[in-house]
Amino acid sequence: DSVFANVVRAPEDPILGVTVAYNKDTSPIKLNLGVGAYRTEEGKPLILNVVRRAEQMLVNDQSRVKEYLPIIGLADFNKLSAKLIFGADSPAIQENRVTTVQGLSGTGSLRVGAEFLAKHYHQRTIYIPQPTWGNHPKIFTIAGLSVKTYRYYDPSTRGLHFQGLLEDLGSAPTGAIVLLHACAHNPTGVDPTLEQWEQIRKLMRSKGLLPFFDSAYQGFASGSLDADAQAVRIFVADGGECLAAQSYAKNMGLYGERVGALSIVCRTADVASKVESQLKLVIRPMYSNPPIHGASIVATILKDRDMFHEWTIELKAMADRIITMRQKLFDALSSRGTPGDWSHIIKQIGMFTFTGLNTEQVAFMTKEYHIYMTSDGRISMAGLSSKTVPHLADAIHAAVT
Ligand code: PMP
Repeated sequence: DSVFANVVRAPEDPILGVTVAYNKDTSPIKLNLGVGAYRTEEGKPLILNVVRRAEQMLVNDQSRVKEYLPIIGLADFNKLSAKLIFGADSPAIQENRVTTVQGLSGTGSLRVGAEFLAKHYHQRTIYIPQPTWGNHPKIFTIAGLSVKTYRYYDPSTRGLHFQGLLEDLGSAPTGAIVLLHACAHNPTGVDPTLEQWEQIRKLMRSKGLLPFFDSAYQGFASGSLDADAQAVRIFVADGGECLAAQSYAKNMGLYGERVGALSIVCRTADVASKVESQLKLVIRPMYSNPPIHGASIVATILKDRDMFHEWTIELKAMADRIITMRQKLFDALSSRGTPGDWSHIIKQIGMFTFTGLNTEQVAFMTKEYHIYMTSDGRISMAGLSSKTVPHLADAIHAAVT
């Protein structure tokens, strides 16, 4: 008998499990709107032209080797990533108050930040929005933080529960960590306005709450890298401290390359360098040092004016296609006379629409229409095309009537 005979079968991941179920379905009309990965109008994964160009340059460069990177990763990549999120002229960067380490995409960067906080920060409670990306509570718990939630989404308005958010953060203990989605909140697609961000900032600073930004969709929400970083930048502009985890999975289409960064903005350069020395002690026993390929692609693109410009154009095209899908789905439901108010489809931001469909309606759409999505009714707009919108609209119509 196996020494592992007692191992119990674990459930599939709630998000990645959707793809597992989709792959098993043999229907020709099946549609995967579960995982947040960009697809073209033809339903195909996309490698950006600028990424292909960067990879070609890397391959042709005879001087390149595959030696280990330092523990904190590729120096150019780290510097350029900080500039991308905090702004090229950020005083915090100029004053050397920011330490940035390369991470294993957004997930790995969140994990390293969380482990650092669990070891070195006096308050081990992190507040995450309700709802949030399903991996957040797991990442923070396993890193040794205690997870609490703050109200974020109001199902009755399908919008922000701003009052609840202010109340919950207002009654959080001094110094608590607060996880904030930098833009394009997942799964709700609901972001605070800039005025609301400003109120959140004032409240958090007055209570000494520590902001931990998760930036997985910079540029992907509005099509503008700078606009999507506004929330982060107002928190850095006040001189206070914060953390930011960045992912290049969506905005550069580098999902499987696992390339991201963790930045910690400190009050002084001296503190930042001590923090960096401790980040190395978190990383070294976890995975030693990060992979070189994805970070080299990103650094090649970010440091070249023309390539950077080409990236912004391709990024905008992805964001625009998603916004077009929102309009098409909304129009398709309107033309079918589907009962209910569906304006949230065009109001929500980023990759996902939080449809408001319940678990039974989702199960119905999967069974009868072979449409796959998470059971909370979240659909990835990036997985939709002009060809598949009518099928989705038919399914939603049937589910709610
Ligand atoms: N945060 C949020 C809110 C996300 O939606 C995602 C991707 N689904 C991530 C972080 C991290 O993704 P990755 O590790 O692939 O960069």
